[in-house]
Amino acid sequence: MSASTLKEQMHSRWQAIQDRIAAACQRSGRRSSEVHMIAVTKYGSIEVTQAALDLGLVHIGENRWQDARPKWEALQDKGIWHFIGHLQSNKVKEVVGKFDYIHSLDRLSLATHIDQQAKTLGIQVQAFIQLNVAHEETKFGLAPEDMLGFVKQISSFQHLRIAGLMTMAPYVEQSESTRSIFRQLRLLRSNLNQSGILPYEVSHLSMGMSNDFEVAIEEGATWIRLGSILIGKS
Ligand SMILES: *Cc1c(COP(=O)(O)O)cnc(C)c1O
Repeated sequence: MSASTLKEQMHSRWQAIQDRIAAACQRSGRRSSEVHMIAVTKYGSIEVTQAALDLGLVHIGENRWQDARPKWEALQDKGIWHFIGHLQSNKVKEVVGKFDYIHSLDRLSLATHIDQQAKTLGIQVQAFIQLNVAHEETKFGLAPEDMLGFVKQISSFQHLRIAGLMTMAPYVEQSESTRSIFRQLRLLRSNLNQSGILPYEVSHLSMGMSNDFEVAIEEGATWIRLGSILIGKS
């Protein structure tokens, strides 16, 4: 595919996505400016990632360091990088300092590694706690009932800031049936804020993918993570 065709296709897809975001916001009385979009380029090339940046999509999502690496090395300063996949502790040294946001914080050992590496670099990492709201065996994430205990354990970590909560809904044909999952994540955010464990407000919800982002927006998503609908199916 020529570079111009790629750019044109992504441009028209992005326009259609923006219309759908706007309509979902309107249905739920929200402002489009409250909903941030992460372009998930994990199945895409450097050219695809460049095309997303050219559309003004500065937030780039990747789920494996090995796949992200060539794109990050080519385009690092042009984007703001989000690590959205399961993060092994032995990859923390690669990821911290390059990715501003980590969406997959799901265990104490990982939090400890991130905090230590961020301290070494003199930075603070923004993290989302990943919750397995549907208790799916195949998915990573903390069980909702373990969230407050986990936050207590990491509340003194100086180099880790909890930006929000993240979940992946089960894949279903009818996106409407994901609504209760997203609603539960919003309630978990309220529980967390009401607990007063953290000395700051946790404001973000990272939820909604190509298949279900409109329902997620209606239920309060502040970050949606869109891959195939933007870059095409691979
Ligand atoms: C791949 C991925 C996405 C994007 O998925 P699409 O269905 O292609 O939009 C979002 N979030 C996570 C965690 C992913 O791994």
